[in-house]
Amino acid sequence: MRYLVAGAGFSGAVLARELAAAGFRVLVVDERDHVAGNCHTDRCPQTGVLVHRYGAHIFHTANDRVWNYVTGFAEMMPYRHRVRAKARGQVFSFPINLLTLNQLFGAQFSPAEARAHLAGLVEEIAEPANFEEQALSMVGREVYETFLKGYTEKQWGVHPTRLPASVLKRLPLRFSYDDGYYHDARQAMPREGYTPLVEAILAHENIELRLGCRAEDVTGGDSTSEAFAHVFWTGPIDRYFGHRAGRLGYRSLKFHEFVQDGDIQGVPVMNHCDAGVPFTRVIEHRWFAPWEMDRFDRSVAHVEYPAACGPEDIPYYPIRLVDEKRMLAEYVAMAGAAEGVSFLGRLGTYAYIDMDQAIERALEMADAALAAIREGRAPPVFARPVL
Ligand code: UDP
Repeated sequence: MRYLVAGAGFSGAVLARELAAAGFRVLVVDERDHVAGNCHTDRCPQTGVLVHRYGAHIFHTANDRVWNYVTGFAEMMPYRHRVRAKARGQVFSFPINLLTLNQLFGAQFSPAEARAHLAGLVEEIAEPANFEEQALSMVGREVYETFLKGYTEKQWGVHPTRLPASVLKRLPLRFSYDDGYYHDARQAMPREGYTPLVEAILAHENIELRLGCRAEDVTGGDSTSEAFAHVFWTGPIDRYFGHRAGRLGYRSLKFHEFVQDGDIQGVPVMNHCDAGVPFTRVIEHRWFAPWEMDRFDRSVAHVEYPAACGPEDIPYYPIRLVDEKRMLAEYVAMAGAAEGVSFLGRLGTYAYIDMDQAIERALEMADAALAAIREGRAPPVFARPVL
């Protein structure tokens, strides 16, 4: 009997590989015509530049197991992610650091002076309960309204008071001139892009990959359906249950692509923070592969427009609002009662996680599933608590 893995993104690929390496046969299906999910990269036919088809994906991790895992499948090239932000007619250093604060306040603050200045501006909120309260208690109203409020409203389509504080905790606040976007010592990009990396993970004699195939097509319960020892589902958890408790909210993205001679913006990502600008950021792809920059005399960029996620749209970000959490609890209960299925990944667990966390959790799921299988038990429903 084979195992079924629904979805060929990082979560599905890593899990399938671990099962295959342990000697089990696995069928991996994905409804798209490529692997790697939303990390998919390919070359722009007009310019030759490697393009992140579903938005910028920058690999960064503090986890050695994850790092050793990916470097076993692809050459990872050194990369330091840098972002700038346009707001109120100016270009700022970003994420918020000492230069950003000096630019905004027209000052020459030292680290201690900048801290003292912000301390005079922040609002005392003992336990920030949402994104806005978190921002006001961390950076005060002026910084919040310049860089965070408009961007966040555009990105999520809701008022920042309805978003969890954890969303803001993704962004660093630094009282130095360090303008790197991530803290992690390990930051890198796969030399040929993410799709060959995921293809390499899936390249195992015990894995059969079917693209353009929905999981429902092989498990349909009719004469063509196949029997599996267990299903590992990395698609949206609400879809697995036929949206019986309603549709969990996701945010989607639309991209406008354009090509230009020479360099477009001088930086991989330019955030556009003003509420009046209808997009959130512009990404210029060749900056994501600095080692091959000189090969191209034309450049391709994507303007990123956040959008509501209808039934036919691609989900990108789980929106964990209060109502969603209630609905998620219903799906978690259904998952607990269901037999023969485990859930993982950004969509399978409805979690705003990065690539390295997806890999880490897929490895955890594989460890737990293999231990369970060896002992004749069912694999766990989730690798970690979801709620
Ligand atoms: N954010 C913001 N202004 C910015 C950049 C980010 O307010 O210029 C907020 C926004 O709410 C966003 C969150 O910080 O959703 C996390 O940003 P990150 O860059 O990590 O988002 P991702 O790359 O995952 O879309």
